[in-house]
Amino acid sequence: MEWNLLVECQDAKRIGISGHVRPDGDCVGACLAMQMYLRKCLPQAQVKVFLEKPADIFRELKGFDEIDSAFGEEAFDVFIVLDCAEDRLGDAYRYFQTAGKRINIDHHITNKGCGDLNHIVPEVGATCEVLYDLMDGEKLDRELAMALYVGIIHDTGIFQYSNTTPATMEKGAKLISYGFDFPRLIQETFYQKTYIQSNIMGRALLESIRFMEGRCIVSCIDRKVMQFYDAEPKDLDGIVNQLRNIGGIDCAIFMYQTDVLEYKVSLRTSEKVNAAEVASFFGGGGHARAAGCTMRGTFHDCVNNLSLHIEKQLDNT
Ligand code: AMP
Ligand code: MN
Ligand code: MN
Repeated sequence: MEWNLLVECQDAKRIGISGHVRPDGDCVGACLAMQMYLRKCLPQAQVKVFLEKPADIFRELKGFDEIDSAFGEEAFDVFIVLDCAEDRLGDAYRYFQTAGKRINIDHHITNKGCGDLNHIVPEVGATCEVLYDLMDGEKLDRELAMALYVGIIHDTGIFQYSNTTPATMEKGAKLISYGFDFPRLIQETFYQKTYIQSNIMGRALLESIRFMEGRCIVSCIDRKVMQFYDAEPKDLDGIVNQLRNIGGIDCAIFMYQTDVLEYKVSLRTSEKVNAAEVASFFGGGGHARAAGCTMRGTFHDCVNNLSLHIEKQLDNT
């Protein structure tokens, strides 16, 4: 890395941190870990995290209750964007725009770097793993280790996905040596679902449709169904992975309606389909095996448009 985080932040009085809309475990873990680290290393600076309200399951992470989801008028000497580029910052975009110095740290292969200073490492499985590598190990403590661990387990599917490397496992081993209750953290933040989340997942699985000779599967939850279950987007996490777990599937698509004729699309693929390439075509992005985008049109328009790109890749294998 050609620049030093602490050197770049040392003169800042006010440092803001944010990540993407609909923050996931890696995003929440990375933002809170960065806040803890900067407060520890640069005690004279004011540090604050801005995020859309994250799922309550992350409440045990230090600093969770201080997360600002109101996005009032503020200005920052340094603004740090984690786990995304500026296009997915949502309401935090204006802090980024007006900041004295803009820093972007991420691991999405589709992110070209949006800051004055960038550190994008696509070969690493989680932004929290990237942060582990750039933080001074002497400063780690139990709370910081827990936040980094949450990010790593969420983006690697508990060290299961192909973005897991021997180095990821070594970092995981070091992190759990700080003595937090990791089995409970895994159960409560990753596997556990509320009754409603389980109901809606059941419905999505029941209504899923296979196509392309059973190699693709799609399921969609529209706004009426979301309202019926009183569900929010974060209640839909994990559905696309469950679709991908079905035997014979090379590409799983999960969509939920965000507006009239607008859907958030999640893709999970085998090595036969590059999900980031498909999502990038529709203005989204992500990783080779997991990516997402927002699409306009009817459900059938979206599936037809996605299918063209998926089919091309499947035909080539
Ligand atoms: P999701 O399906 O939303 O869980 O996203 C899968 C992966 O793709 C995650 O790493 C996301 O951060 C990334 N991703 C999702 N949507 C977008 C988007 N619109 N632009 C860039 N990356 C995305
Ligand atoms: Mn993320
Ligand atoms: Mn991530």
